[in-house]
Amino acid sequence: MAEPVSSAVSRRRFLYAVAVAAAPVAFLARVKTSLGQDQGELDPTPAAGEKLKLTPEETAGPFFKPNSPAKNNFRDPGVTGTPMRLTGTVLDRRGKPIPNALLDFWHADANGEYDFNGFRCRGHQFSDSDGKYVLETVMPGLYPGRTRHYHVRLQAAHGPILSTQLYFPAEVRNSTDSLFKPELLLKIRESGASRVAVFNFVLGTI
Ligand code: FE
Repeated sequence: MAEPVSSAVSRRRFLYAVAVAAAPVAFLARVKTSLGQDQGELDPTPAAGEKLKLTPEETAGPFFKPNSPAKNNFRDPGVTGTPMRLTGTVLDRRGKPIPNALLDFWHADANGEYDFNGFRCRGHQFSDSDGKYVLETVMPGLYPGRTRHYHVRLQAAHGPILSTQLYFPAEVRNSTDSLFKPELLLKIRESGASRVAVFNFVLGTI
């Protein structure tokens, strides 16, 4: 039924808006300072007790497919491209890890193509008891109109769904992609031929 769903979505949006508006000014000032200090380093897990900014929402786009398999390694036979370990922690706004949060990832392959017939480069997993997740995958390729990105939908148990996208630093197209947000940049560490990309998600919980 359309009406209850729509009103539930509005209510969630309202709660998000309240949570963001309630962030103390002092905290916002501190985030600005730490952004400058943290450049080029991997994000440590924020300390408990902090009021963190929610991970921004982004459109899921037209290429999401429901019912993805449980999978934390997309490097199946035939999947080419630079190996990438995408990892981090799912946190609440106090910096407390959220275990058993659903993370459903999907992205274009190294040629910039999504799999519509199967589930290549699509899969879901749950954060572990420390809120951590790890996805073994590859660098996504570029496709027309977008900068390089991963897609993900997250949900803590009984919490709202967050659709968002993760971006790569130093990509030429970041400056021309209207969906790009600097808060969604991955922190990348080169490790031989492979790379580690870190992103900590902050979810609103109800
Ligand atoms: Fe996409």
